[in-house]
Amino acid sequence: MLILRCPYCGVDADETELAPGGEAHLKRFGPGSGDDDFHDYLFTRENPRGVHFERWRHAHGCGKWFHAARATDTLQVFGTYPAQTSEPPKEVLALIRAARPGWSWREFA
Ligand SMILES: [Zn+2]
Repeated sequence: MLILRCPYCGVDADETELAPGGEAHLKRFGPGSGDDDFHDYLFTRENPRGVHFERWRHAHGCGKWFHAARATDTLQVFGTYPAQTSEPPKEVLALIRAARPGWSWREFA
């Protein structure tokens, strides 16, 4: 079972207390953007086997949105952090690199 620590209230919440919100750190495109960019923003998502950054809501707790970095293949959780951040914290990235040498992410490599 997936267990994530809510960065706001500190509760270790299992997945029955959480609501998934899809991929985190999307680059948003709106009116005035090109058709391809807008299409990708609406419909294209990463689905990696490995490290993934996701949005979750502590639906049956404090109700706040947060981000989680975890491995989809092992369910290892590298960390959770507030949703108002535009990039993962350095501590989370360091944990990922320690667990998976050579790993890099498109914007934070
Ligand atoms: Zn919470």
